[in-house]
Amino acid sequence: MKIRRRFLPRTIQDAVATAFMAAIIPITFWFEVYVVIPDIHGADSIYNWIHLMPALFLLFNISANMLATVMCDTSCQNEIVQAPANVVISAGGSSISWRLCSTCEAVAPPRSWHCNTCGVCVLKRDHHCVFTGCCIGHKNHRYFIVFLLYLFIATTYASILNNYFMWFVRGEEFRNWTSLLKIVFPLAMLVIDTSTKQYYLVIYLINMVGMCFTGVLLVYHGKLILSGRVVHERNCRDYDLGPMENLRMVLGKRWHLTWLSPFILSELPHNGINWDSIQQEASKSK
Ligand SMILES: [Zn+2]
Ligand SMILES: [Zn+2]
Repeated sequence: MKIRRRFLPRTIQDAVATAFMAAIIPITFWFEVYVVIPDIHGADSIYNWIHLMPALFLLFNISANMLATVMCDTSCQNEIVQAPANVVISAGGSSISWRLCSTCEAVAPPRSWHCNTCGVCVLKRDHHCVFTGCCIGHKNHRYFIVFLLYLFIATTYASILNNYFMWFVRGEEFRNWTSLLKIVFPLAMLVIDTSTKQYYLVIYLINMVGMCFTGVLLVYHGKLILSGRVVHERNCRDYDLGPMENLRMVLGKRWHLTWLSPFILSELPHNGINWDSIQQEASKSK
């Protein structure tokens, strides 16, 4: 994996969103493992250890995949990009032709797009993600989708535990109109109420919203990946080789192992530059 030279967020929006992610992931882990689970099962219960295993696995995969997404250089910059001799180079953006990027002053391959925030052309660019402060493209698409998958699983897991903890285990403290009001206006209430209970409500709410948000994103990006498209190619089926091949295009040749850890090597079947053969194969299979 090529490391990005400048991986710190470049805009205030990116910095705030990335800092929020870097803080909320360990806070939620601490809250579930040290507050919620021992409160549900009792301090000495064996179930605390049983919950700790999946919680550690989730924490590891979310953090490591997020870090890999941020660190991975998916730009055209350090690549030897050379357009084939007989190819027509267009000036505008297109998913199927080579183009000349006026900002980078270089030719850029099909499926690449220039990102104004990152300041580079990105190979098979999907979108710019504010929560990681970088572009999602050919080389870090794998880490991004696994990161998203585990975020959805973790927020769902945490929300189930939190609902049980707040409405049943600590029901007498939380089952009242004030709690409901605080859930609807958590930040406003935080100003006048700084008790621990209020912070628990904020973590509860963030996980509930996170579960819905990551669920929608997972379905959206999952459908695009399985149909061989990126965000810019919503109406284009030029690279659709069938669900399994499309999945391999993102997760690599050892796709079935990538869910275990971002450290497992899984070579991508394409270099992110030459897509001509893929286009021909896709049009043959239609
Ligand atoms: Zn460019
Ligand atoms: Zn970008």
